Amino acid sequence: MFETLLAGIRSIHDHVDGQIPLHAPWFDADDEAAVVECVRSSFVSSVGPEIVAFERDLCERTGCSAAVAVVNGTAALHTALLMADVGTNDLVITQALTFIATCNAIRYTGAQPVFIDVDADTLGLSPEAVKRWLEEQCEMHDGKCRHRDTGRWVKACIPMHTFGMVMRITELLNLCEEWRITVIEDAAEALGSSRNGRHAGTFAPIGTLSFNGNKVITCGGGGAVLFKSIELAAQAKHLTTQAKVPHPWSFAHDRTGYNYRMPNLNAALARSQLRKLDHNLAAKRELHHRYSHLLASTPWTLVGDPSGTISNHWLNAILFRDREERDAFLEAANNVGIQCRPAWELATDLPMYQQALQAPLPTSRSIQDRLVNIPSSAHP
Ligand SMILES: *Cc1c(COP(=O)(O)O)cnc(C)c1O
Repeated sequence: MFETLLAGIRSIHDHVDGQIPLHAPWFDADDEAAVVECVRSSFVSSVGPEIVAFERDLCERTGCSAAVAVVNGTAALHTALLMADVGTNDLVITQALTFIATCNAIRYTGAQPVFIDVDADTLGLSPEAVKRWLEEQCEMHDGKCRHRDTGRWVKACIPMHTFGMVMRITELLNLCEEWRITVIEDAAEALGSSRNGRHAGTFAPIGTLSFNGNKVITCGGGGAVLFKSIELAAQAKHLTTQAKVPHPWSFAHDRTGYNYRMPNLNAALARSQLRKLDHNLAAKRELHHRYSHLLASTPWTLVGDPSGTISNHWLNAILFRDREERDAFLEAANNVGIQCRPAWELATDLPMYQQALQAPLPTSRSIQDRLVNIPSSAHP
């Protein structure tokens, strides 16, 4: 049943010997030189010029006012939530169809997630569904949004730009402004994606990125928090450097901080990788075009750019007609060395989030049943 499709995928990746990976990192001689040079400088750890330079490069590339480089995307989300003043017993709205990091970061603060549905075209948090939940379950009290049944404050909302596709961020920002909820964009998968020329992760006051090994560019492990406010970014920098009070020799700290700062060694690699981002994006766009030709005359759909947005095509995705068909394809593809995987299990199906507050999730469920990510590396 899938023979033609699998042969097509194989032929698109005909330069690959053996298993075709879902998403492999790509390094060149410049990356190697950057790492070697950093090692030779001996500034491999928490102090060094590459960290500041990388933060500046990120501002330039994304258009944010200030960036704080951290150890990974999960730490970036945790930092973002702390900067949004999220704490014990608060509520944070997010999507059930997301990587677990989004949910875990909420729990690190002692807050509880509220899981809401995604839009069928963007696979990101649905502003309509959020609106419905807020109107049904919440009220304004003292100028803040309160969940009626639990009396908890709805402090923040984390939409995620799924597989690099930009969700309806403007609509969500307008809604959340009405309800006085801080929006944090999880743009971990969306480096290089934009809507109306604006980079994903820079619409909301706070956004986060990841440079994990499977992302569009990587520095081994890494992340960043993007800010509109330079003042807030300075506070985040302080928090992620153990809240150490700057001083030439004394060792004092003024709050419970975190050791979340990105090491100089990773920043050196990250800078070198960032210079190749546009090159990777072009290759990924080309791959996406080839997949869309391949899928055109089949009963299955390649998930494409939501209208008005430019996606980085981090991971290409096929929608099958039902779960059985999806499972048959996953089996067939992985059996012939084409690494494919389903979407994440919905957070609400996992033991630690089964009891969480949630709205109806018909679209998330349908996508989870039918979606498969296919090999999407930028280069051989
Ligand atoms: C990759 C990713 C993160 C962060 O992951 P790290 O591995 O901690 O860098 C967060 N959210 C989403 C949606 C991701 O895909």
